[in-house]
Amino acid sequence: MQTNTFFSTSLEKTLVSILGNSVKIIDINRITGGDINDAFELTLNDGSQLFMKCNKKDNISFFHTEAAGLKAIAQTNTIRTPHILSIGTEDSSVGCSFMLLEFIKEKRRISNYWETFAHQLAAMHQAPIENFVPAGSYGFMENNYIGASPQINSAHQSWTSFFRDCRLEPQLKAAEHYFHANDLKKFIRLLDQTDYFLKEPEHPSLLHGDLWSGNVITGNDGRAWLIDPAVYVGHAEADIAMTELFGRFPQTFYEAYQEVSPLQPEYERRRDLYNLYHLLNHLNLFGAAYLASVKRILGKYIP
Ligand code: ADP
Repeated sequence: MQTNTFFSTSLEKTLVSILGNSVKIIDINRITGGDINDAFELTLNDGSQLFMKCNKKDNISFFHTEAAGLKAIAQTNTIRTPHILSIGTEDSSVGCSFMLLEFIKEKRRISNYWETFAHQLAAMHQAPIENFVPAGSYGFMENNYIGASPQINSAHQSWTSFFRDCRLEPQLKAAEHYFHANDLKKFIRLLDQTDYFLKEPEHPSLLHGDLWSGNVITGNDGRAWLIDPAVYVGHAEADIAMTELFGRFPQTFYEAYQEVSPLQPEYERRRDLYNLYHLLNHLNLFGAAYLASVKRILGKYIP
């Protein structure tokens, strides 16, 4: 991305409108760690920092939906998320969309960091969901993205049918070309039996939706903050399952979570099926490196 051209136009105007006429960007540093967007730390002439993500202009809906997710989590008053300062597009030939967020400055973690985070997450999972979906249903008020893939959130009265129709099936359709006929038959049987393998929750929960360790960062209060969500209302155990997909959180996290909100019996039998959604998504976004893991889980449920 041609950052010099980009930073000279709409972004400067946006900063002036948010922070006043005297504001200037004095330093820009690229931040790595994300999968989808270009990310930057902007340092302003008053010494403060802002966080900015950029993508192609056509992808501005990534940022609108991410902002809706951050706001939904913030509404539960349980876990901190960065404030959203602005979303916009830059109109020069570079043609980018951007989102400006409060910069999360990492501080030393509080001593009971994982227990506190677990209790906060359990509270988020128990928060009222009526602002996000019609009572008693699963989904979200708008579709959003999981990484760069569309994520359909149309309201369903049953969690198991929501997970089949809006999570597994669309990812599977997008990945069809990776599979031989025999595996596709197994997938059809898996979809037919989703309500046998999964379980309705005791209550619907607002989920982060993409809860791996890279999306939990330590804020200036020494506690965990959530970033980059793919929120929807679903079964809380889908969030917990994802924390186990790419290396688990420390055991103290799981013990503390269950003090507040015990997992339903046989969660472990459902865990890989939830994570099949994310692995299919990785297969679709990043390629065949994820095929073996997808097939292993498929074979586990449909031998
Ligand atoms: P992507 O949308 O590309 O996945 P992320 O939201 O994961 O990007 O952000 C990329 C990196 O930037 C993260 O790994 C994180 O360390 C850092 N980051 C994200 N949001 C902030 C923020 N508000 N303040 C400071 N650093 C952030």
